[in-house]
Amino acid sequence: MSESSSLPFARIPAVDKVLVALDKAGDLPPLPQPLVTKLVRDTVDEMRKGVKKGELEVGEFEETLAMIRGQIDSLYRSRIHPVINATGVCIHTNQGRSPLAPQVVEAIAGVGRNYNNIELNLDSGERGKRGGYLETCLATLIDAEAATVTNNCAAALILMLKHLANGEKNEVVISRGELVEIGGGFRVPEIMEASGAKLVEVGATNKTTLSDYENAIGPKTGMLLKVHRSNFWMGGFTEEPSTEDLVDLGKKHDLAVVEDLGSGAMVRTEHLAPIPHEPSATEVLRRGVDLVCVSGDKLFGGPQAGIIAGRADLVAGIKKEPFFRALRCDKMILTGLQETVSAYLSAGNEDPDLPLIGMLSASVENDLRPRAEAIHGKLTELESLDVRIVETIARCGGGTMPKAEIPSLALDLRPKNFSVTHLAAGLRKTVVPIMGYTAEDGYRLDLRTVFPEQDSILVNNLLDFCRKH
Ligand SMILES: *Cc1c(COP(=O)(O)O)cnc(C)c1O
Repeated sequence: MSESSSLPFARIPAVDKVLVALDKAGDLPPLPQPLVTKLVRDTVDEMRKGVKKGELEVGEFEETLAMIRGQIDSLYRSRIHPVINATGVCIHTNQGRSPLAPQVVEAIAGVGRNYNNIELNLDSGERGKRGGYLETCLATLIDAEAATVTNNCAAALILMLKHLANGEKNEVVISRGELVEIGGGFRVPEIMEASGAKLVEVGATNKTTLSDYENAIGPKTGMLLKVHRSNFWMGGFTEEPSTEDLVDLGKKHDLAVVEDLGSGAMVRTEHLAPIPHEPSATEVLRRGVDLVCVSGDKLFGGPQAGIIAGRADLVAGIKKEPFFRALRCDKMILTGLQETVSAYLSAGNEDPDLPLIGMLSASVENDLRPRAEAIHGKLTELESLDVRIVETIARCGGGTMPKAEIPSLALDLRPKNFSVTHLAAGLRKTVVPIMGYTAEDGYRLDLRTVFPEQDSILVNNLLDFCRKH
């Protein structure tokens, strides 16, 4: 018996037939045709394999068509596009970390659309230094001898290690209490290994003394490393030497002391919200550390980048590393960071005009409550949903300041005729997806991370969803 004459195979539709039927339905999302064709072809191939193995029973054509249609919708939703972050997590790594300021985005668009002077000296007309102006701005902002920029903070750490711990002197002394996993594939010991450095762990998880460091120093030691515990904290029976003591030890043995700070706070966080103080690159350098690195897209509030600051000779050396070329930023990132730094420099003693800073410092009573009440007012007519305003706790996120609890307000949604899971899934599928969170049997939309101009989209999406249910 041939394949085509047996019923299970006969139900597998021809690719062309599916494409014609999809086209006829006429409401496909605007995906490029080659993607749709490939998806249909791959799905039909998979069906054939499944049937051959006896693992799949193919249904009616309409059923297959609906299944493929679902896959097309979900492929369309997977392209990168804006979402409304109503989770209350300000630096949400799954949602792109820091949102960029409008003036930052505008500058990026201008440079992206046009030719620019990225490696051009307009005084001489000759080739110029890439990112020279930005490096000067960063050094000024951080109050460092010199600064430079790379792809991200992980790249910055690799470059510092490559420069300071190599060849005969490739050992890096680090406390066991700092061998942390920052998240998503960033484990300090693995990064160090990838850079060719040899890890020399000292102390215990909760206690490391200065003499632990000193005893580990030998002829092969290249540098001393401190890693900021961005995403967790230790309490109880703990001890570690002060940065100043570590710096003195480094000087005594002629070794550079480097700190991976990560979070990138540049303003006094305790003034933004009732949250703890997060050290800045400036403070770390004032304690005598030779080099520090931070992320551009965490508390710094800019695009993804790694900022290295500190001793001019070391920064210059890092820029000569062959790896530096491989990890450099492109023109759009350099422009975005330049405008972000500019917001700090022109703010003086005020808070810089950056969305993340505005979000962290928004007042519950003056900023969030009026918005929550306005939204609540527009949703009271809904029959299928109970809506309340509740007090919540928002977070910094992005693996920074895990102890910081920022008072916030949320809309608590309780569906009457369907489940919270169904509501959450429905809101993820609207044109501008809304991401909230489940708490105490309700679905919460925290307004601290929603831009005020998104309030009307949020309301319309909810009304639209509920009308259909
Ligand atoms: C977040 C973080 C990193 C990684 O930064 P990326 O910019 O995401 O590469 C490194 N070190 C510390 C301490 C961090 O907090």
